Amino acid sequence: MMWPRRGLDPGSVWAQRLRQLEQRLRTKEERIVVLETENAALHLKLAEYQGLAGRGTSEILQLYAVHGQQLKLQRRSVVTQLHGAIKRLKQDLKSLHSFALELSKDFQRQSKICLYQVLAAVQGIQLQNEAMQMFQIKAFDLEQSLQEVTERYEKEKQKRKALHNSLIELRGNIRVHCRIRPLLPFDAAAGHSVSQDRRRNFSEKVAYAADDETVLVKCGRPGHASVNKTFQFERVYNDLESQDAVFADVAPLLTSLLDGYNVCIMAYGQTGSGKTYTMLGPQLEGNLAFSIEEESELGIIPRATQEVFRLISEKPPGSYWVEVSVVEVYNNEIFDLLAKDSYGKVFGVKRDVVTTKEGKSDVPLLTHETVENASEFLHLVNKGLQLRVTHPTLVHAHSSRSHLVVTLTITTVVFGDNFGTLWEDEQTSQRLNKEASCTFPQKMRDNKSTSSSRASSPVQLEATEKMKQVKTRLQLVDLAGSECVGGDAKLLVMLCISPGQKYLTESMQSLGFGTRARQVQRGQVKKKNFPVSSKGK
Ligand code: ADP
Ligand code: MG
Repeated sequence: MMWPRRGLDPGSVWAQRLRQLEQRLRTKEERIVVLETENAALHLKLAEYQGLAGRGTSEILQLYAVHGQQLKLQRRSVVTQLHGAIKRLKQDLKSLHSFALELSKDFQRQSKICLYQVLAAVQGIQLQNEAMQMFQIKAFDLEQSLQEVTERYEKEKQKRKALHNSLIELRGNIRVHCRIRPLLPFDAAAGHSVSQDRRRNFSEKVAYAADDETVLVKCGRPGHASVNKTFQFERVYNDLESQDAVFADVAPLLTSLLDGYNVCIMAYGQTGSGKTYTMLGPQLEGNLAFSIEEESELGIIPRATQEVFRLISEKPPGSYWVEVSVVEVYNNEIFDLLAKDSYGKVFGVKRDVVTTKEGKSDVPLLTHETVENASEFLHLVNKGLQLRVTHPTLVHAHSSRSHLVVTLTITTVVFGDNFGTLWEDEQTSQRLNKEASCTFPQKMRDNKSTSSSRASSPVQLEATEKMKQVKTRLQLVDLAGSECVGGDAKLLVMLCISPGQKYLTESMQSLGFGTRARQVQRGQVKKKNFPVSSKGK
């Protein structure tokens, strides 16, 4: 018997086999009919002969007499033939019967097997159907719970945002972090007149991070019992802490920036204490061209820019843009490091500071360049810094009293219908809405993404235009005094400390400054009338 081969549809194989067997059965049945017909014909013939035999004896006797012996012989041979035929016929019938019997048995056997197989297949299909239904139910359940989780996530995200800003506000508007750099080979260097002993003392470490909020300074002269002094700050970094760790504490402020707060991050400390390292990175001052391998060494300014653009990329496209200004502050004079001459070459220009009607200081002619991404920003800042190095007479890179202020101005534009605030509180929302300026974004006005200057006054729009823009500012200050503080920014002072005995006096001065800065009580930081697009949040 043929078994269905693997891979073939067992149903169709068995159906085919069944058809073959039926065909064979039909052939045999036809053969039986033929043989039965022949058999009947022979019976007829026999009867005929018997009839003939039964005819009048006289006739027979007559015939016999006539044909006597001949007839007798003929009859005998016919009877013999007839007997032979009947015998063969009987044999044929017998074998046909046994064949038919075998065939039917075989057919029954195979039908049974087929039936079992079909039953098994049907059962299998039923089981599979059940499993399939189970999976469908599970998939449906999973989809539903995913949707629920997504909704919850969205709600939690909103809550986190609100909490984040409350937290930043609670932490105070002035935060002071203190970073103690490692002892470096040049800490031991001193003038010729200094004795070997004193030189050894210079590199003795006197400033430590006692824990991540406390600086411990061993005060005292050699030979005298030292007195330990401690200073508390929001965060203290020891000499082993990476640029990553420092930036991790700065990043939350950038979220506030996009939520509508001005932010100022400035480094404070004596020369050589690590301000430029902290703000820019370990490269030569004036060269911000970082290679990828040095990415882990990047300082706050490049990292903050990357983070700002990352945060912007999460917002609806086109609703934010960023302008950069780079200025040097020296003796209350401001030098615009992005100003260009008539040939488009960058040169530093002294800019006037004016006091606005609201009593704020402003630099009306300052160059603001629009940047689309972090690398464009770094390229620009690099240009400004190069100028600082190549024109030391024009600007004052080598003066410890020269401050570098890099400002990122983030403008948000929203159409009236989407105007709202982060705060659910209705009153604040209304107040902020009133304060919003109805001005066309500069970029949309002149459709140029390169240079733009605040000297040209923005086009006032009809109130019906309902387009609003709000500016927030991130100021990053290296070698700073307190000039950057206009009074409405979240301020982070990154106090930089050299650990060596040689700088004890300066370190104490810086730590004192930091301590006083923490005690300054200022009004609540004003949140800008910040528009929120309903779908972007
Ligand atoms: P400042 O800008 O305050 O004058 P710098 O940032 O130029 O000081 O730092 C002086 C030197 O100390 C530089 O060579 C700088 O690479 C190194 N330096 C400062 N801080 C660190 C630090 N945390 N780890 C390693 N080297 C540092
Ligand atoms: Mg420096």
